[in-house]
Amino acid sequence: MSGEADGFLRCELKENAMGTKGREIVGMDVKTLLEMLNRAYADEWLAYYQYWLGAKLAKGPMKDAVMAELTQHAADELRHADLLALRIIQLGGTPVLTPAEWLAVSGCGYDAPADPHVAKLLEQNISGEQCAIVTYQKLIGVTQTADPVTYNLAVQILSDEVEHEEDLQALKEDLELLMARNRG
Ligand code: FE
Ligand code: FE
Ligand code: MG
Repeated sequence: MSGEADGFLRCELKENAMGTKGREIVGMDVKTLLEMLNRAYADEWLAYYQYWLGAKLAKGPMKDAVMAELTQHAADELRHADLLALRIIQLGGTPVLTPAEWLAVSGCGYDAPADPHVAKLLEQNISGEQCAIVTYQKLIGVTQTADPVTYNLAVQILSDEVEHEEDLQALKEDLELLMARNRG
């Protein structure tokens, strides 16, 4: 056997052996799990873009504080997409291949920051976070005994989403106090 063919064969064997035991221990339908993970993955990309663009467009009172928070959250959502892509690959799946599929696959969808007023951006992103919280709560529910690795991942992401919701609600509260004072 030529060196090249031998190398190819070893590569094939290695690929077949990848993550075998890790996948075997998953006590649920892997296809269903991969669908849930890809839905969350598409959500994260859309959330990333919604935050990233919103941070650039924001107008109105407390704009700087809102922009800083949205920028931070964008980075977190991108990190979540990264974690989900790695887990999908570990499970033998393929992360959604094209941006065109993100909307089709997404559970939480996309709210375009068409109105750049900070109050509107906060409102849109709070409802996005609330949808994400439900998504990860469901993932935690189906994986808690079936797949400790995905469970652990979902718990980590959920705690970020809970923090995001609280951060945005705190900004919204400050904004409302400021606007009430300006009126009064
Ligand atoms: Fe996220
Ligand atoms: Fe979030
Ligand atoms: Mg934050």
